[in-house]
Amino acid sequence: MSEKLKVGIFGITGCMGCQLNILYQKELLQILDAIDLRAFPVGKEVNLENEEFDIIFLEGVVVNRRDLEDLQRYRKMTKKLVAIGACATDGCVPAIKNFMNNKNVERSVYKESELESMHSLDPRPIDDFVKVDHYIYGCPMDKMEFLQFMKQTLLGKEFKVAAKPICYECNLRERGCLLEQGIECMGPVTFGNCSVMCPLKNYPCVGCRGPYPDANFEAYFSMLEDKGVDKETIARHMNRFAGVKFARLIQKEKEGKGEEEKEDENSCMDLFCHVAKDRLKKGDASCWGGN
Ligand code: SF4
Ligand code: SF4
Ligand code: SF4
Repeated sequence: MSEKLKVGIFGITGCMGCQLNILYQKELLQILDAIDLRAFPVGKEVNLENEEFDIIFLEGVVVNRRDLEDLQRYRKMTKKLVAIGACATDGCVPAIKNFMNNKNVERSVYKESELESMHSLDPRPIDDFVKVDHYIYGCPMDKMEFLQFMKQTLLGKEFKVAAKPICYECNLRERGCLLEQGIECMGPVTFGNCSVMCPLKNYPCVGCRGPYPDANFEAYFSMLEDKGVDKETIARHMNRFAGVKFARLIQKEKEGKGEEEKEDENSCMDLFCHVAKDRLKKGDASCWGGN
């Protein structure tokens, strides 16, 4: 019989919601028989660290130097690194700080004397620093997608999710469109495969699965503005779970149209990108630490 997969589940800065989402699923018991769960500090007393893993699932966002060191250590320890949840995949709520004055945010919470020892960095999703092999999206991480990943991997298959926006499945379900009623739903620009969880319950999608990479942002923003949604509200919604990645994609769309030099303060695209544009370059160490 072949050896069981050596698995670790770890977290850096996050709320533990994704790890608890793994812990609280009853199917985990069936999976446990098929794997060698060597480390899961949130759910196990004895944990083996600093050894080789086949898969490490990692929750959380890099917000300080300790997170970065832990992330780099986990990357070295494993053959496959899987980002679980919006903090790891897209930066999530902590990354809203990228669109604000970092030091002012920190001063509003911590004493001046504590700031230096925090060694804070501009919050970033983990693939800004290391190679990530797979992504399990959502805030919290989608349980079904986690199970699909485990099943596919145990069968020796490659885990893949078709890239489609939330609207694709929503239209198949014929539930009627919230956006057409003037409700700010992020379905057209959000990565699908959550079974249209929110619109089916009559709540707009708020983008917790991050950006659908082929979205037409300009058309989406125009549609919202036509419905009377103001630009600040649109920008705030884009920042909520995946502002870093939305901003980069929007910038890329602008560059593709040859508009990168042309800034228009009345454009929603520019309003959103303006603050972050220079700070969100991947691997740009000058943006660390904020201002
Ligand atoms: S993605 Fe959401 S649930 Fe998961 S750690 Fe981040 S904030 Fe918590
Ligand atoms: S309700 Fe939202 S997800 Fe559904 S079709 Fe309309 S915009 Fe798309
Ligand atoms: S509908 Fe949108 S906000 Fe709701 S779970 Fe899916 S991606 Fe997240």
